[in-house]
Amino acid sequence: MKMPSRGRQWDDVKADLLGRGSDDVNWREGKTAVYVFNAGEEIAKIQKEAYTAYMSENGLGPVAFPSLAKMESDVISMALELLHGPEGSTGAMTSGGTDSITMAMKTARDYARANGHAIDSANIVLPQSAHLAFDKAGQLMDIEVRRIALKTDGSYEADVDAMEAACDPNTIMMVGSAPNFPHGIIDPIEDLALASERKNIWLHVDACVGGYFAPFARMNGVPVPPFDFEVPAVRSMSADLHKYGYAAKGASTILFRSQELYDHMPFDFACWSGAPMKTPTLAGTRPGGAISAAWAIMNYLGVDGYCRLQGEVCATRERVEQGVKALGFEILGNPVLGLIAFRHPEHNAFAIYGEMYRKGWITSATKEPPSLHLMLSPQHSKFIDAYLEDLAESVQSIAEGETEKAAPKVDVRYS
Ligand SMILES: *Cc1c(COP(=O)(O)O)cnc(C)c1O
Repeated sequence: MKMPSRGRQWDDVKADLLGRGSDDVNWREGKTAVYVFNAGEEIAKIQKEAYTAYMSENGLGPVAFPSLAKMESDVISMALELLHGPEGSTGAMTSGGTDSITMAMKTARDYARANGHAIDSANIVLPQSAHLAFDKAGQLMDIEVRRIALKTDGSYEADVDAMEAACDPNTIMMVGSAPNFPHGIIDPIEDLALASERKNIWLHVDACVGGYFAPFARMNGVPVPPFDFEVPAVRSMSADLHKYGYAAKGASTILFRSQELYDHMPFDFACWSGAPMKTPTLAGTRPGGAISAAWAIMNYLGVDGYCRLQGEVCATRERVEQGVKALGFEILGNPVLGLIAFRHPEHNAFAIYGEMYRKGWITSATKEPPSLHLMLSPQHSKFIDAYLEDLAESVQSIAEGETEKAAPKVDVRYS
């Protein structure tokens, strides 16, 4: 597109803009179980209203916008209360999970250096199932990422002994996920805690996708093992509001056990022509709307609202478990939250994925082992029967060997 030499009428631009969505996945009809968290019209409306109320304000300026500074600190307090943050625990909002994880690694590295460790080279040790955001941050900061194979007992949990053995004096962080993305499984955080204490290494819990889910699932009676600051060795946590916090996109939290740890995060600089600047996280300009929308949704839903929504998601996941087992699939491990992966002992998961894709479903897939993957939202309760019907058809057509003829080339990459 070339920029129009004369600006166009908004009506015309708007029609064009909205028309652009016509080829997108039909997420409002539940056709995706990745990228979008659909909690219904009412919540979408509140996200939009609350976002636009502070859309022009900038979280970079807490003195100019005490409103945003207070809302951010309210969000952090609510997060810390949910995740058993002790007295003195603190944190900041970021633009997303990748941002939160990057800041956690930067903070752990600077903390290690301030204490005389890992001066020349640093590494982190994590399970193979941990999110690739750790590798992105590792590439940015030249931190080696040591991925350790999972336990082979079918639990899809981190192998804590192997992780401990992979640590050395330059290890600045060990990581556990609650839960991991590929399998939806919560790592044994208490065992990781013991290992990290023996080695005196920073333990980070990546609760990007579970931080605002697991506490409510537990309130609903789901047996969620200790995974947060309740475990004393946990020094930092990442938890995304724009996932199961049902906030507008661009909102996550990075949390620390103490101010002393947090203090290694902010950037504070005066040696340039402009005025000195101090920022807590990677961002300069911070969209006020992401902060106000998160604050508003947390207040709108409250504990009872989140319990209800997460209960709906867990119930849908149980229906998926039953439905896919009836089609001969095996569930990977024992997922208890909103993510689930399942494989078929006879049929190629990616061939089934291809069939589902042709039926309009854009879900996600897990590579190790090849499996179908769903990250469920509250609205999926309405669409899961249709999914299971299409899945049954897809498995059947694969079984009948039709795919060899018709197999579409489907790329399961997130790109
Ligand atoms: C989504 C996710 C991330 C990354 O979050 P973004 O907001 O996509 O940057 C990190 N860890 C886990 C476990 C996730 O599910």
